[in-house]
Amino acid sequence: MDINKVLIIGSGPAGYTAAIYAARADLAPILISGSEPGGQLMQTTEVENWPGEPEGILGSELMDNLKKQAERFGTRFMSDTVIDVDFSERPFKVRTNDKEFFAETIIIATGASARWLGVPGEVELKGKGMSACATCDGFFFRDKKVAVVGGGDSALEEATFLTKFASEVVVIHRRDELRASKIMQARAMENPKISFVWNTEVREVLGQERLTGLRVFNNQTNVESIMEFDGVFSSIGHKPNTDIFAGKLELDVKGYIKRRPDSASTNVEGVFVAGDVADPWYRQAITAAGTGCMAALEAERYLAARE
Ligand code: NAP
Repeated sequence: MDINKVLIIGSGPAGYTAAIYAARADLAPILISGSEPGGQLMQTTEVENWPGEPEGILGSELMDNLKKQAERFGTRFMSDTVIDVDFSERPFKVRTNDKEFFAETIIIATGASARWLGVPGEVELKGKGMSACATCDGFFFRDKKVAVVGGGDSALEEATFLTKFASEVVVIHRRDELRASKIMQARAMENPKISFVWNTEVREVLGQERLTGLRVFNNQTNVESIMEFDGVFSSIGHKPNTDIFAGKLELDVKGYIKRRPDSASTNVEGVFVAGDVADPWYRQAITAAGTGCMAALEAERYLAARE
């Protein structure tokens, strides 16, 4: 049986940073990159808040650099997807589509994915006007009318961003009170291109070849109506990628992996966590990288203590 010292699941900034640290500590990590190598940053354009890049850097270039840096110190990469884990015995067991891996420590950095509305028409019209990423697709809606669904910081951030391109941005929220921070609210409310539709739920995404609008329901008046749009952005939060860990690690009510305060450790000794999969709050590339570093250092200390 080939037992790895450190096995990292996920290839965003958290996974790659964990790999850089573990590899430099001579732990020869193996990293299983999943179905979307590079993670969410591969879908963004320019990253302007990564420290040390005063001119900004493309998300894909940043991820490529992190990967090369991890490779330079001896990380082994597997482009495969983990389908099952067994943390009940040591060494831990991780199963992918093709293989089984064994490891003394695991670092989970599987990230989070945007949540979709889950209404009829949405799947069919993805990429034809329906999107969950304003930074990826906003460019296609120059001088068009778009809707953003949601009432949190992400929704208002996306709505504000979209005003760079769209002629009109309508925020559709299911309540009459926003969840977003006051500063984001003020910025959006001051923007003449942004308007709000309150107490309104999306029932259907309409269109054949292209998205043409939404069928919506006002939950105060109980009236259903059709609104015309060229594009619709779902901005109702993110879902942590933790399906394979359910019942195997402690998760919070929203499905994020619980970690001990000020630590990267989980409720299973030797299993560590980094990045958005345990972070519903900051969700930044730099915080993901920071926790990736923490997870690798803790894995190293755990291994040293066992030896
Ligand atoms: P969020 O705060 O959870 O907000 C999600 C929004 O979507 C809520 O308004 C919610 O409505 C709505 N929603 C949820 N499910 C829905 C559904 N099925 N249909 C319609 N609406 C639905 O998520 P987020 O905006 O992605 O923010 C996540 C975290 O990141 C927050 O802590 C936020 O502060 C932070 N963040 C910060 C910034 C920033 O500071 N620049 C930017 C983005 C995100 P209800 O309000 O009715 O629940």
